[in-house]
Amino acid sequence: MSQISDSSVRSQPDQGATTRRLIHDKIVHWLRAEAHITVDQIDYAAPFYDLGIDSLGAMAIAAELQEETGKILDPEVMYDLENITELAEYLDSLPVRVRDSAIHDGADEPCVTMSCDLPDEAPAAANGKLDYFRRRNRLVQSLKDQGLYFFEPVISEHAGAWVVADGQRMLMLGSYEYLGLLGHPRLKQAAIESIERLGTGHHGARLVAGTTDIHLALEARLADLMHSEDAIVFSSGYVANLATIGSVVGIGDYIIGDQWNHASIVDGCHMSGAAFVEFEHNDMDSLAERLAQHAGRRTLVVVDAIFSMDGDVIDLPAVVHLCKQHDALLMVDEAHSLGVLGTHGRGIQEHFGLRPDDIDIKMGTLSKTLAGTGGFVAASREITTYLRHHARGYIFSGALSASFASIALAAIDVLESEPELLQRLWDNVEYYINGLKALGFDTGLSTTPIVPIMTKNNDLTLEMTKRCRSRGLLVVPVCFPAVPMDAPRLRTCMSASLSRKDLDVALDVLGDVAREIGLIE
Ligand code: PMP
Repeated sequence: MSQISDSSVRSQPDQGATTRRLIHDKIVHWLRAEAHITVDQIDYAAPFYDLGIDSLGAMAIAAELQEETGKILDPEVMYDLENITELAEYLDSLPVRVRDSAIHDGADEPCVTMSCDLPDEAPAAANGKLDYFRRRNRLVQSLKDQGLYFFEPVISEHAGAWVVADGQRMLMLGSYEYLGLLGHPRLKQAAIESIERLGTGHHGARLVAGTTDIHLALEARLADLMHSEDAIVFSSGYVANLATIGSVVGIGDYIIGDQWNHASIVDGCHMSGAAFVEFEHNDMDSLAERLAQHAGRRTLVVVDAIFSMDGDVIDLPAVVHLCKQHDALLMVDEAHSLGVLGTHGRGIQEHFGLRPDDIDIKMGTLSKTLAGTGGFVAASREITTYLRHHARGYIFSGALSASFASIALAAIDVLESEPELLQRLWDNVEYYINGLKALGFDTGLSTTPIVPIMTKNNDLTLEMTKRCRSRGLLVVPVCFPAVPMDAPRLRTCMSASLSRKDLDVALDVLGDVAREIGLIE
């Protein structure tokens, strides 16, 4: 491929620092613009695979670097080289090449052309269909090799707050079953009865032959619980977000989301085709600015009620006020607030004493407090009717199994008839957060059952997880890109199923382990 001519100009020897900075800035820019991750500083030694740069990202960054430096850079190199320092050395070693006009004409595919003209000294080229995956799996493999892979612990038994995970009895400190309903006899009985009457699966998608009387009963019950006219049930919360956002807005419309929204919201925003921007986390000036910038366009504002990594609550009254001012549709994800916030656990609307129609679209999941599987949207009948006939994740996916609908119905019964569970959950939250603070832990912004324990860096996070698990405490590590690079943590969760004695065990183990590794004094 000789669309590229070699000018043979070499880099200056003092160029290293400039090149490192250039690459750094390109990556920061890409993370902000494409991955919606705000980060100001990246360690030059941080491995690329830790930064979550996917193949499209590598192509985009390589294209920008080529544009800026006049050097031909194969995006694949970003998987063979470790980090910014190595890439800068490599880039500095390349000759500057001047592209001829043929490449500019094909600017839509600059990287395809670039990768055909790799210089001989490039790191070993990727061969074979599986090389791509091997490179992308390097982090996983390296964590496994070091005994630091903590994903997917395999649970084989469950009793209250205790589980057997990977063959070891452990206290569960990372579960979303906020009211401890996972083993509740009424929920189990409801599932059994539903399976006896209707079988295990379904007859197809809801609009075809998948709807049962239990689905309709659940939708009516959810509508009542959320103070909405109607509700519609999806096969998961993830699908509910994708299908709903993906159908209520589209090309030509505009979405504004909180910067810390859950991935399922973000994916729905991308999928919709609408122009999508974020506002600074829980910052109402930033939201107001975004709304003003795009006044006059059809707009959806979407936020989490409780943020799933930080456990803080959105300032919803202010969001509602701004949405009304700008005539914007408002959607709230109540995945972590249903059964948690509000005097009766009815969610964020009850928590703030808002009016039923202040939130246009109340999305929730059946998989957390309600201890089953599935997702839902509660809204006006105009919106639910539209969703039933336009939301592709509803139309083209098999119905939620009726047994899960029965479980959710029974869970709502329990939520309403056993208010002491909600009380116990909040007593536990208070006792636990106070206990952690007294030990010297930083629990971030949390005021809810999601309680992050900030761990300063990845090494401490993984070491803390390892030691906690070996002492029978099941905690979950969360690092970049799920959270900002400078804010790794253990994401712990409170549940009504934990006794005071369990909480003391948890606090003792956390305190001991953190002192051993120097996280607290
Ligand atoms: N929204 C939020 C805020 C969540 O945390 C989750 C799941 N973790 C979902 C939506 C997706 O729900 P589901 O697990 O039911 O798919």
